Amino acid sequence: MFDKILIANRGEIALRVIRACREMGIKSVAVHSTADSDAMHVRMADEAICIGPAPGTDSYLNMASIIAACEVTGAQAIHPGYGFLSENAKFVQIVEDHDLTFIGPTAEHIRVMGDKITAKDTMKDLGVPCVPGSDGGVPDLETAKKIGEEIGYPVIIKATAGGGGRGMKVAKTAKDMESAFRTARAEGKAAFGNDEVYIEKYLTTPRHIEIQVFGDGKGKAVHLGERDCSLQRRHQKVFEEAPGPCITPEERAKIGKICADAVAKINYIGAGTIEFLYENGEFYFIEMNTRLQVEHPVTESIFGVDLVREQIRVAEGLDMSFTQDDLQINGHSIEVRLNAERLPNFSPCPGKITQFHAPGGLGVRMDSALYDGYSIPPYYDSLIGKLIVHGRDRPEALARLNRALGELIIDGIDTTVPLFHQLLAEEAIQTGEYNIHWLEKWLEATYA
Ligand code: ADP
Repeated sequence: MFDKILIANRGEIALRVIRACREMGIKSVAVHSTADSDAMHVRMADEAICIGPAPGTDSYLNMASIIAACEVTGAQAIHPGYGFLSENAKFVQIVEDHDLTFIGPTAEHIRVMGDKITAKDTMKDLGVPCVPGSDGGVPDLETAKKIGEEIGYPVIIKATAGGGGRGMKVAKTAKDMESAFRTARAEGKAAFGNDEVYIEKYLTTPRHIEIQVFGDGKGKAVHLGERDCSLQRRHQKVFEEAPGPCITPEERAKIGKICADAVAKINYIGAGTIEFLYENGEFYFIEMNTRLQVEHPVTESIFGVDLVREQIRVAEGLDMSFTQDDLQINGHSIEVRLNAERLPNFSPCPGKITQFHAPGGLGVRMDSALYDGYSIPPYYDSLIGKLIVHGRDRPEALARLNRALGELIIDGIDTTVPLFHQLLAEEAIQTGEYNIHWLEKWLEATYA
């Protein structure tokens, strides 16, 4: 058993891991940059250690500092949260070389899934349905054009190393191919140091449906249903719910089993998410995330399990605490992402919180690292919290979300809270009839 875990992250996800550690009787070590000395995760952990200056590259991404922090504090394992080093295969290797445990998948699994072409090939071989497209990388414009003709426009050109919505360009017609191809390559090169791209059929009205999987690393795996994350701005999720409003129990059981079997076959360990686009009753794999997701709480809410606790258990070599049969869906859950951003442009809005009040009551969960008087530093992601609600059914969850948003007070900065008040008044949100383009179109119409 671990008796001390270091959390290589900050903000709400660091608190989330500290909470799981505390419930398990495990001591927690927070790491922080000089800009985060007053941060909530530093205050809440059993121990805290400064690992470098404000920029993420010098602190939360500084592998040597993080390993040194483990040695100084005697932590035996590292939980990476999401973002930062959570999907960095090199870091996992270094952690293992120092006889420490990385709470997450192996370096090899991260490497395979981190390269989108290899990931797609692997999933195809494991029987997971994929979006039609190029078989692997596309070397030049000539080939790109040929593939465009073959699969039919519109197509999307994607950087194989891409992530966070970057390195993707749509070509609506053959005319757009040249600029889309060049831009996707340039973005891949600039942001990820890799200009390899591949091509997929661009689906016009899909939903983003992702399956939560969990493996014990010993050939057993389960699925925890789906999350619908179709409400996106610039390919970034803003509102997530589980179960998906349009997924039937039969569809869930079928795609869930395909995913669980796939990860079982590769001895996957820990939490993972297999992302699909869903259109006309068909699922198309787009990528796998080999970590805990921002939106994991909606899954926890409907299944009543603690995914972080489970990650720690399997990292210790224990079996999962549940079987597929134990996992029964109870009710409906919705998460909204609270960002320190100013509408209508969503420009970052860091600053001092003059008043903070978290909503409460039945079925309300607030995961945030805010407190009265906290100053949000300008160096990191603008996500400052997540409001998660649970109800017996979707209408109850929506009503609860509305009520909880009304109780929430975050003064001193601008946030995305008003966006959700407005969205809840929309019929498409009430009925659940939206797809991945709905929000962009709505924003254009509402804020233009
Ligand atoms: P990232 O790793 O940058 O998040 P993904 O491959 O997961 O990239 O895609 C992110 C989003 O981009 C999807 O949720 C979807 O909105 C859109 N997208 C990706 N592939 C396609 C496609 N083939 N057709 C239509 N939209 C797509």
